[in-house]
Amino acid sequence: MLAALLVAVDVGHYAAEPGVISASGRPEFGYNRDLALEVKADLEESGVRVRLIGERGDYAVLHHRTRDARGADLFLSIHHDSVKARLLPEADRFAGFSLFISKLNPKARKSLACASAIGARLRAAGFTPSRYHADPVLGAPRPFADETNGVHWYDNLAVGRSATMPSVLVEAGVIVNREEERRMRDPEVRGRIAAAVAAGARDCLSGKEE
Ligand SMILES: [Zn+2]
Repeated sequence: MLAALLVAVDVGHYAAEPGVISASGRPEFGYNRDLALEVKADLEESGVRVRLIGERGDYAVLHHRTRDARGADLFLSIHHDSVKARLLPEADRFAGFSLFISKLNPKARKSLACASAIGARLRAAGFTPSRYHADPVLGAPRPFADETNGVHWYDNLAVGRSATMPSVLVEAGVIVNREEERRMRDPEVRGRIAAAVAAGARDCLSGKEE
């Protein structure tokens, strides 16, 4: 059954606008690509087909990403996180993963099931949800869809609302935090994150989390 599945793994941002600049000055795009490649390898190892999107850094238009994911059973967008500009001087206080889904996605329930499954696998692997995106002062705010597993509603999320399949955006960690950035660079840590994301995607697509 897994062999029939196709997951679109999207590398967040692109060369001209590479996302957050990390504490050490490395753009987010490179982190996203490194992690996305590992998620792809883990999924393929278990027999799931993967379509990688944006790995060459040439996707400037967000809805082209979900357009080119057509036919996939799940759209997974890989990102690394920051904090509001005024909180950057205290960025070392912020750490952890966050998962975002849109109510405007036609498969919002399945999106939630997949995000919860990914969050549960990340927690089981020793990672902790960041939580601050739900806070009106520290975050946007993005209310919790599944507080335990670090899943937030983000209804205008472009890759959430424009996807025709279930869609989850993964913020793997906060790279404006110096210590967290060091962890995100560690191949062992990246490997555990990738394995958890891939396992969560498999869990929800094989129906275990429904
Ligand atoms: Zn990003």
